[in-house]
Amino acid sequence: MNDWIQEGACLGVRSDIFYPPELPDDDGTAGYTAEQYREAYGPAKEICATCPVQIRCLEHALDKKERWGVWGGLIPIERLRIERKWRRQRLRVRRASEGHEGPYIEGTLEDDDV
Ligand code: SF4
Repeated sequence: MNDWIQEGACLGVRSDIFYPPELPDDDGTAGYTAEQYREAYGPAKEICATCPVQIRCLEHALDKKERWGVWGGLIPIERLRIERKWRRQRLRVRRASEGHEGPYIEGTLEDDDV
């Protein structure tokens, strides 16, 4: 099931590093500065950067719509951005498949999607 968790670089690490209490998770509207994000989530991101199961962790978080903490090296607002891009992309593909002309049909990603 989620056996990959046992291989995570965060195994045994204090959970408050991944769920920093000084900076509540938010949906991107709380107005925290980039510096506040860096200070609160930097240590967790550094651990994730060394993790052998980072991609699986991120996929899990996106699949389960995890709204809290650092998963796969990404903080909640970063995961939310990925979800929004996927939603827009799915909408474009659906419209194209239904015969509507979209801004583009060929290719799958826009420059700002990567
Ligand atoms: S990517 Fe980060 S949160 Fe996920 S298992 Fe690895 S160390 Fe833990």
